[in-house]
Amino acid sequence: MSERHHVIVGMGITGNEAAITLRRREPQSRITIVTLASLLFYNRYDLPQVFRGKHDWREFLVHPPAFYDDNRITVRRNSRVANVDPLNKVMTLEHKEDIPYDTLLVATGGRGWIPEELAEFRPLMQGFGSFEQAITVARALPEGGGRVVMLGGDMIGLDLARTLIDTGHRVTLVAGEQTFWPHQVSAERRPAFVAALETMGVEVVEQDSVGGVAQIAQGAKGLPARKVVFRDGSELMADVVMPFYGIQPAIDFMGRTGVDVERGLLVNPELRTTDAAIWAAGDVCQIWSQEENRYRFYYGWRNVRAMGEVAAGNMTGGNDAFVADQDEKLEIDAEGRLVSPFWEYA
Ligand SMILES: Cc1cc2nc3c(=O)[nH]c(=O)nc-3n(C[C@H](O)[C@H](O)[C@H](O)COP(=O)(O)OP(=O)(O)OC[C@H]3O[C@@H](n4cnc5c(N)ncnc54)[C@H](O)[C@@H]3O)c2cc1C
Repeated sequence: MSERHHVIVGMGITGNEAAITLRRREPQSRITIVTLASLLFYNRYDLPQVFRGKHDWREFLVHPPAFYDDNRITVRRNSRVANVDPLNKVMTLEHKEDIPYDTLLVATGGRGWIPEELAEFRPLMQGFGSFEQAITVARALPEGGGRVVMLGGDMIGLDLARTLIDTGHRVTLVAGEQTFWPHQVSAERRPAFVAALETMGVEVVEQDSVGGVAQIAQGAKGLPARKVVFRDGSELMADVVMPFYGIQPAIDFMGRTGVDVERGLLVNPELRTTDAAIWAAGDVCQIWSQEENRYRFYYGWRNVRAMGEVAAGNMTGGNDAFVADQDEKLEIDAEGRLVSPFWEYA
């Protein structure tokens, strides 16, 4: 058992927690983390701190580089997994290198989803999914305050909006179906939550009231860098346009494995996929819920971290079921401001 090779794809909260758990449970086995990221594990919830002047990536790292050496965890950064061959238990990186595994954990999370009708404007929009992207946004906003147009308004975006407003920037949200995702908000309660956003200083434009986004364009010389044009002809100028329409699981490289997928990788409550040697955890997976009689995602810091631990436990002989431990209710506090359990992390 000790010579087994546990391979983890992804170095987010889930992958990192799984590696630590694997090392604790099997001091001798080989553990390799493969990630697209250029930096070692950092908590992306912290990224809004770039607007408070935190620009040194080292300050974001959760563990010092020596931590991985000390725990004999091999980390392969800037490496994209291109394919997995379950029959031969081999994973192939984009540069054609093969990595054999005994067990494989897919913890590739998700990337920002962009509605098809806006895909052509992707180069004119700015993501916020990595340290590098966060620094790019911080540099694109003028000292003393700029203007951000936020499209969609999922809870990651609204978390960022709080920091942007608090650090002197103006935020205009073009609200629609994905506003407050992953919270499920009823039509009855939505107006109160929108009013809470306005109390927090967010300017809200309901996408339906302007006919939706027709175009995103470069701003003219001497004007802010971006222009958002709506179908009713109205426009918004902005220094930065940021899409926050929720996330889409990063599973493209699993396409030829035969492992069951819906939007994410489908797993049983023990986080095992339909392949006996492959587990999945975090934002990338949908877990079978007997109670709801469906496969569903479980978001939130506490959930994805617990999934990493449970999956690693089951990859090393355990048989524990994941139990969700995250409140999912969106609330309004006494000051009329939004409170979301999805904003909490340790
Ligand atoms: C700025 C920001 C703020 C956030 N704030 C909140 C918040 O307030 N509340 C909330 O609930 N969630 C928030 N999130 C989302 C939260 O970060 C995720 O839910 C959580 O990180 C999911 O963890 P994960 O380990 O499943 O995946 P991720 O953290 O997404 O990690 C996935 C890893 O897989 C790697 N990867 C992906 N594809 C490949 C491939 N083909 N080959 C190799 N490696 C690959 C990536 O490089 C990355 O290392 C925020 C995210 C961001 C970016």
